[in-house]
Amino acid sequence: MTRSGQEYLDSLRDGRAVWLDGELVKDVTEHPAFRNTARSIANLYDMARDAELRDVLTVRPEGQDRAVLRAYHVPRTQAELIERRKAFKTWSEASYGFLGRSPDYMAAGIAGFVSTPEIFAGETFDGRDNLAAYYRRMTEGDLYQSFTITNPQIDRTRAASEQEEDDLYVRVVKERDDGIVVRGAKMIGTGAVFGDEIIVGTIEPLQRQDVEYALCFSVPLDTPGLKFISRTSYEGQARSVFDNPLSARFDENDALLVCDDVFVPWERVLTYRDVDTTFRMWWFTPAYNNFVHQAATRFWTKLEFLTGLAILVTRANNTYDLPPVQMQIGRLIGWLNIAKSMVLAAETTCERVGGEGGAVHINREIASAHRAMAGDLYPKVLAEIKMLAGGGLIQLPASGYDLKHPELGPLVAKYVRSPGTPAEQRIKLLKLAWDALGSEFAARHEQYERFYHGAPHVYLPGIVRDGNPDLLAAFTQSCLDGYQLDELPDGTGGFDGGR
Ligand SMILES: Cc1cc2nc3c(=O)[nH]c(=O)nc-3n(C[C@H](O)[C@H](O)[C@H](O)COP(=O)(O)OP(=O)(O)OC[C@H]3O[C@@H](n4cnc5c(N)ncnc54)[C@H](O)[C@@H]3O)c2cc1C
Repeated sequence: MTRSGQEYLDSLRDGRAVWLDGELVKDVTEHPAFRNTARSIANLYDMARDAELRDVLTVRPEGQDRAVLRAYHVPRTQAELIERRKAFKTWSEASYGFLGRSPDYMAAGIAGFVSTPEIFAGETFDGRDNLAAYYRRMTEGDLYQSFTITNPQIDRTRAASEQEEDDLYVRVVKERDDGIVVRGAKMIGTGAVFGDEIIVGTIEPLQRQDVEYALCFSVPLDTPGLKFISRTSYEGQARSVFDNPLSARFDENDALLVCDDVFVPWERVLTYRDVDTTFRMWWFTPAYNNFVHQAATRFWTKLEFLTGLAILVTRANNTYDLPPVQMQIGRLIGWLNIAKSMVLAAETTCERVGGEGGAVHINREIASAHRAMAGDLYPKVLAEIKMLAGGGLIQLPASGYDLKHPELGPLVAKYVRSPGTPAEQRIKLLKLAWDALGSEFAARHEQYERFYHGAPHVYLPGIVRDGNPDLLAAFTQSCLDGYQLDELPDGTGGFDGGR
């Protein structure tokens, strides 16, 4: 069996250096800013051992006597791709789509790396053996891999090696017989503080002169010199699960990673001083497409949840049957079905990965299109539901304690209600809605859906590059070629002269 939730939680008590608001957090499993989310992740591990879900969430690779998390398995048929999506779907439903970087995200990416190990045979460093050992370590330990593969947003107009100082982005500062020493920072470590290991790399292209920055490695969270500087914790700010039901339990955290002269043994290095391989490991393996497979499935779940929220809120407001409201609900269900169809279509038109591995991955064009679609659509979904909900989202008591208060309780019960929806039920629903739509947690999710796959000025031109612009232009040109000026009948125009 895969590891239990308790085993996962125990593994987090390793002395990792997580900083929050000037405090060095001793134990993320007990600290009020992290503990509930750590338990939500632990629950995912317990689900994988549950007799009813085990076959969905895990798989026993051929010739092995132990099951592994399905996300780590390399799919070799369309059926296996679909099985993997069912696992993504099951885990995403446990957080209603709000844990973007559950352990299956990067696990699928790692399965992408090992589908094309030849990509790791760089000119300056051959990472293939390390990759194989890394894959074994992660799958056999059911480990949670988080990642920081973006350079800090310091000066986007300059190359890594041309920033104001040398150590702003992670780079190698010393080479030893047994490994390398790295220094610098990376952003944004979503879920990083909850991970077993962190992979540090660069997904955007580096310049030729940036070789010191062109490396990728994975190290345990308690590696000396690693520091995680957390953003505000929404879980820490939450009053209770009743008052902030999502942020109190599913705040996956985002942290700045600082490497303060971190020693990385050679066996943990995947690419080294190689601009091409450091880039190609993300884009020329199925890693990125595998991320999208997980993310698009989670997005589908999130839209199911939000559409359900819209239905419950409008029913509670007694507006559900009004024709304009039915139009808005119809629009939401339509959008949800677009998100769902893209996952199903990308699986149906899956592609065989080149090389010897025999793997398949989802359709590349659809994966790229999903990236553009989801970032644009998510803010629209939120806006639509806010319009449906009205002022009730704001006219809520500060906390559930007001309902229990001897003087306030009866007043709240009298005035915060609607037909068929007593106060407690209405307040519970609208507090959930606010957490999903308007809270700081919700705003972070909007930014997440827009940027977690990169910035639009990078990925939209990428869609043009990877697409078939010439084919599309030729199609339209064929229409233009079907008629000519010379074919105009003689005459001078006007209603009688032409056609
Ligand atoms: C909530 C959240 C979680 C994230 N989690 C992770 C994670 O776990 N791991 C990880 O590695 N990364 C993560 N990221 C980071 C993410 O990968 C980056 O935000 C993304 O790559 C975009 O980079 P950037 O934020 O530096 O934006 P920038 O590249 O600075 O772009 C921001 C804006 O500046 C303008 N701009 C900048 N440069 C140009 C240009 N050359 N041409 C035209 N316009 C330009 C555009 O308007 C653009 O939208 C996360 C991001 C968010 C928001």
